[in-house]
Amino acid sequence: MQILSNAETVCQQRGVRLTPQRRRVLEIVAGSHSPLGAYGILEQMDFSGRCSAPITVYRALDFLIGQGLVHRLTSLNAFTACMHSASEHIAQFLICRACRTVAELKSSRVAQTIQQNAEHAGFAVAQQVVEVTGTCRDCGV
Ligand SMILES: [Zn+2]
Ligand SMILES: [Zn+2]
Repeated sequence: MQILSNAETVCQQRGVRLTPQRRRVLEIVAGSHSPLGAYGILEQMDFSGRCSAPITVYRALDFLIGQGLVHRLTSLNAFTACMHSASEHIAQFLICRACRTVAELKSSRVAQTIQQNAEHAGFAVAQQVVEVTGTCRDCGV
């Protein structure tokens, strides 16, 4: 899977470890057609080994989000694998209301516009998450 080999490269370059559990969580998230909630990820984990606690999934997600390999979609309370993890970016998401698929944009113009308008309003941006809901191409016809 392209996303997994990208992730391995990214982690190697940054000197952080993509442990088997982190890798597995990323694989599950990346393998899903629509964003997965934590419960959906848990369901697919194999807990027959030592890693029996759901907390390992949350820790793995924290790591993956921190490294920009996974994005959290607040409006869906779900996670999606990043499509552009090799480059630093602020993402915008197009979420289809019908099939729940997510497309990821990385418009630096959108990010800059938000940043500048926030600055004009005297607001210090810590993080921006733009989630746009609508209908995807497949569901629109
Ligand atoms: Zn991304
Ligand atoms: Zn759709």
